[in-house]
Amino acid sequence: MLLSQVETPSYIIDEGKLIDNLKVLERVQQEADCKILLAQKAFSNYFVYPLIGKYLAGTTASGLYEARLGKEEMGKENHVFAPAYKETDFDELVNLCDHIIFNSVAQLMKYKDKCLKAGVSIGLRINPEHSTQGDHAIYDPCARGSRLGVTLSNLQQALAKDPTVLDGVDGLHFHTLCEQNSDDLESTVEVVKEKFGQYLEKMNWINMGGGHHISREDYDVNRLIRIIKDIKETYDVEVYLEPGEAIALNAGYLITEVLDIVDNKIKTLILDASAACHMPDVLEMPYRPPLMNSYEYDKKPYKYRLSSYTCLAGDIIGDYSFNREIKVGDRLVFEDMAIYSMVKNNTFNGIPLPSIYLQKENGECQLIKKFGYEDFKNRLS
Ligand SMILES: *Cc1c(COP(=O)(O)O)cnc(C)c1O
Repeated sequence: MLLSQVETPSYIIDEGKLIDNLKVLERVQQEADCKILLAQKAFSNYFVYPLIGKYLAGTTASGLYEARLGKEEMGKENHVFAPAYKETDFDELVNLCDHIIFNSVAQLMKYKDKCLKAGVSIGLRINPEHSTQGDHAIYDPCARGSRLGVTLSNLQQALAKDPTVLDGVDGLHFHTLCEQNSDDLESTVEVVKEKFGQYLEKMNWINMGGGHHISREDYDVNRLIRIIKDIKETYDVEVYLEPGEAIALNAGYLITEVLDIVDNKIKTLILDASAACHMPDVLEMPYRPPLMNSYEYDKKPYKYRLSSYTCLAGDIIGDYSFNREIKVGDRLVFEDMAIYSMVKNNTFNGIPLPSIYLQKENGECQLIKKFGYEDFKNRLS
């Protein structure tokens, strides 16, 4: 099937683009001698895990389900970080994961023995308290009062009470970036060294989290490689990165059809896709998703607001303009729709889930999954 023939709405994963991204990551692994993991939170389409596993060292998870998925479908290194672990999950987690990262000293002490017995490598997430994100407070783990990671003062207090706290801990983990370049990583690493360097000296690995936009065109890959090499040399540690976005950045589309056009001072296109159901980050972040063959609202003669066929008044995707008039039945293609999209889908308003296709490098689209009424109904009773 060709792209023009798939039903709407559908997500298309672009295999060629995915491979391009993976090759950039492979180069980082080779030149910096580090390991890169897929953060499944951003992209869990396990149909392509065998492909991703050819390039990357493994997977990382945010909890039990992702950990199980990584183990079942990629089967390489399998890490997990969660702000807290449930006792009922933990026995299964130590069987699934080779690295478990804790968010607090209390969680570390609670589960340390279980990890040591199971031969799991233990990590502690630190909070360097160095914000680099400007206006995205919702994605800033260094924001004031953040629950994510142990601050230096909290670690020092814990060590003053019990000097054995870090015994058995193998690695430190920080995750402070979101869609950022390696200059922000560099300033973060400076702070990590200054504050946590004395602890890092005793560790076997450091995990620098995600948020590295490594496969973005303007990303300074050479600087990233320099930073990693420097840490390895200074502390004699293995270095991990666990990006989500960078793996499938720009490697997916959401194809939708115009169902109606409503003109109430603004011409609004009603699409068979929804921000609330299919691209929730548009409302949450918020941002205006890229759309093929479109322009900023004021740039071209044909101006429209793109919206959805849910009942939510605020289910608005964004304002765009075009070189041509848009008609009912036209297909529009949202870009960069592989990450934080399928993993966040829901059936609010009884809206169907988009099908998922893989577009091969020869242009052929292979169906991965189609959804129906049962997928809506089965979650509700
Ligand atoms: C979200 C997250 C990632 C992946 O972040 P991206 O922005 O998708 O690269 C990695 N590690 C942790 C701990 C995360 O919370």
